[in-house]
Amino acid sequence: MAQVCVDRVVGEILAGWRYDISGLAPEMREDYEQHFAECQRCRSKQRMHRTIDFGLIFIASGSAIVFLLAFGAIRHFNPARALLLEIGALSGFAFSALMWIIVAIATPVPVVVVGVAKHHARRLHERLPEEIRSRIPETLSSKIEE
Ligand SMILES: [Zn+2]
Repeated sequence: MAQVCVDRVVGEILAGWRYDISGLAPEMREDYEQHFAECQRCRSKQRMHRTIDFGLIFIASGSAIVFLLAFGAIRHFNPARALLLEIGALSGFAFSALMWIIVAIATPVPVVVVGVAKHHARRLHERLPEEIRSRIPETLSSKIEE
């Protein structure tokens, strides 16, 4: 059975945002979070989009590393026409880095990563003994408790 959105209007707004609500203020987010909780279709779309985002970051990182390795190999073996190859490898690296930046800006990957990091930091913080916790500067504690 094809999944249908439980609320087409909200579903279409979410589709326009690529199912990303991480940029919304917490009080604005509630309705959409509610929709994700109720609507399996939008939930799976959201998961798919985030998988694509992470896939793109992963590919861009991978190709940047490959071009850097190629550059290193050219330097090391110093073949004929090394300069042309070096330029090629560096352009490839620059292009991959640019893709990486574009994906990082255009998608919520950084927000998701920061969210996961905060979540872990908070859990670690909660487990710390009281005497250690009291020594952590107030500003740092409030940062991870947001
Ligand atoms: Zn929906």
